[in-house]
Amino acid sequence: MANTTTSQQVTQEKNGATNGLIDAFQILNKFKQKITSGNILIFLDYDGTLSPIVDNPTQAKLPLQTKKTLDLFAQKFSTIIISGRAHNKIYNFVQNDQILYCGSHGLQVNGVTKGLNIAQFQVGTEYLPLLQMCAKEIQEQIIDKIKDSEIEWNGVCFTIHYRRVGDKKNQEVLLKRVYDIVERFNIKNVNNTINNINVNTSNNGKDANLKALNGLTARKGKMVVEIVPAIEWNKGKCLSWVLDQYVKGKNDKQGKLEKKEVSCSPTVLYIGDDITDEDAFKIVNTLDEDSGFGIVVYDNNIEALNRTTSAKYFLPSTTKVESFLYQLLKVSTIA
Ligand SMILES: [Mg+2]
Repeated sequence: MANTTTSQQVTQEKNGATNGLIDAFQILNKFKQKITSGNILIFLDYDGTLSPIVDNPTQAKLPLQTKKTLDLFAQKFSTIIISGRAHNKIYNFVQNDQILYCGSHGLQVNGVTKGLNIAQFQVGTEYLPLLQMCAKEIQEQIIDKIKDSEIEWNGVCFTIHYRRVGDKKNQEVLLKRVYDIVERFNIKNVNNTINNINVNTSNNGKDANLKALNGLTARKGKMVVEIVPAIEWNKGKCLSWVLDQYVKGKNDKQGKLEKKEVSCSPTVLYIGDDITDEDAFKIVNTLDEDSGFGIVVYDNNIEALNRTTSAKYFLPSTTKVESFLYQLLKVSTIA
C-alpha cells in the first residue's frame, strides 16, 4: 500500500508528461485539515477506477485489497459510487451497504452513506421503450453479425462493447453502424424512425408519449459506446444533485438543533477515468479552490489519457486509487 510517487512518475512530471496534472497524493495534507471538520464527500467511478478494465465486462470484480479498503473507508466518509453500469450490478460488485450507488451514469440513485439516504431516485425511465427499439436494431444489424461484440443493459441505458472484436476494421465497421443507427433515434429523426418501425409492429398506443421525447444519443468510451437518453443529465448533474441533498440534509439537521439556518460547504473529491467523468470534473471545478478535487485515473501510461481533461489531479492506476484511499484513511486516523 505504498503511497509514494514512483520515480517514473516524478520523471514524467518533470518532463511535463503528466500534462500539467498534479499527483493526487499531494492533496493528502490539505485533507488532513479538512478531516477534523468533517463534511467530505468522495465520488468514485467503478470500471477503470476501483476495478481494472477487463475484456469481459461481467468479470470486472473489485480487487480484494480495494474491497477491504473501501469497506473501511465507507465507515468513515460519505462514499458515493457513480458508474455507467446499472445500479444493481455495481451493488453486486461492491457489496457494501454504507455506500450510495448512482448507476446508469447517475440516472438511478439508491442507497445510504454518511449524511445521505436516498431511496430509488430515477431519471429517464420514460426512454426505456425507445432504448429497447434502438437496442433491437443494433442487436440484429450489428451484434448478431460481428463476432465478439456484445450489448450490456445498464438500467436506463445500454452499452455496446467491442474490446474483444479483434479486427480493427471490424471495430470501425461496428462503430460506423452504431452511429448510423443511433442517428436515426436522435431528436431530429426519432419521430420518423418510430413511424417506420410501426409500419410492421403494433404501437400499443405509446407513440404519442415517445414522440414527445428528446431521442437518444451515443457516447464513446474506452472500447465501448454507450447509448443514453438525450437529456440534460449526466455524472456532473448527478453529483450536483447528490451534493444538494447532502447540504439540505445537513442544514435541516443543524437547523433543528440550533433553531437557525446554517450553511454547510462540503469538500468534494471525484475520482474517475472515463470521458463521462469529465462532466463531473467540470462541476467539481466550480466549487471553491480548496473544496473540489477532480482526480483523473489513467492506465499506467499517460499516453492512454488521449484527451484534454478538466481534472487537476491524477492517479496513474486503479492500484494507486486503492493506495490513495488507504492513505486518506490513515491521515484521518491520526488527525
Ligand atoms: Mg470508468
